[in-house]
Amino acid sequence: MKRILIADPLAKEGVEQLKSYGIFEVVEKTDISPEDLKQEIGQYNAVVVRSRSKILKETLEQAGNLELIVRGGVGTDNIDKATAKEKNIAVKNTPLASSISVAELVIGMALAGVRGLADATASTKKGLWEKKRFKGLELYGKTLGIIGLGNIGKETAKRAVAFGMKVLAYDPIVTSCAIDGVTLTTLEKINTDADILSVNCPKTDSTCNLIDASFIAKMKDGAGIINCSRGGIIVENDLVKALQSGKISFAGIDVYEKEPAKENPLFALENVVLTPHIGAQTKEGQTRVGVEVASVIHDFFQ
Ligand code: NAD
Repeated sequence: MKRILIADPLAKEGVEQLKSYGIFEVVEKTDISPEDLKQEIGQYNAVVVRSRSKILKETLEQAGNLELIVRGGVGTDNIDKATAKEKNIAVKNTPLASSISVAELVIGMALAGVRGLADATASTKKGLWEKKRFKGLELYGKTLGIIGLGNIGKETAKRAVAFGMKVLAYDPIVTSCAIDGVTLTTLEKINTDADILSVNCPKTDSTCNLIDASFIAKMKDGAGIINCSRGGIIVENDLVKALQSGKISFAGIDVYEKEPAKENPLFALENVVLTPHIGAQTKEGQTRVGVEVASVIHDFFQ
């Protein structure tokens, strides 16, 4: 029997599915410490991680029997993929499982941003009844600029089109898009034409600090910025200054330069919607991740 270590919390539907195959010994140690993971990883043929556990070079040095690492989720930046490749250990993820959840959060942030929902909630709870202050905008007829038209970008685009938005998308890999109402264009065009910008690309050398003061300066006055992708693609201090000056009217931020974000200059601002990296955190998304992890492991060993 292949031994599978589940090192981070996984939806019970996924664990049950994995066990139901009857060909795996499944061990759940979802609060395993980095030190214990290093000590014990050699006993397993596959390890499942989410974002809590890191599979570092020193962990992999001890992983004599490991054949597969599965990241339940999209980004695999918590895994030393170069060392895994050297050691012939496969690295897989669940690319589609959380796309809808993240896309819905992006749209939620766009709606919250144009209507000032976070600020209006705080004001109303204080008993201020500031009807005049909260004159918002519609999404209808506005232009959404999407950087990164992958799984999440496409799901976001479909939903934006349903709201009557025009969608411009930039992606260096994607050459055609079958979604009506979505136009593939250049990064420069998105920079100047978007009423709302959504970052949906991975954090790489070419996207790190992509949205900085000079990018923001070229944006429309009063545009909104949403990042449900990875912290570090937007320069937070530059965004804060733009929000303070009104150049950017609102930001929706799920991911931060430093996580967990216990303190951050964005926290002092009113025109922001902030969430603690919960893009994929829905019941449906988590169940899908769990079930997809189980089938990835099954398919690999079959
Ligand atoms: P994906 O791989 O399907 O799509 C990413 C797209 O970005 C690809 O099409 C790629 O070509 C494009 N891209 C790469 N470099 C680019 C660049 N320089 N400029 C523009 N586009 C570029 O991935 P996905 O599932 O759509 O996820 C997108 C991002 O969202 C990932 O980086 C992931 O880490 C993040 N994510 C966040 C959460 C969350 O909880 N907030 C959850 C899931 C995924």
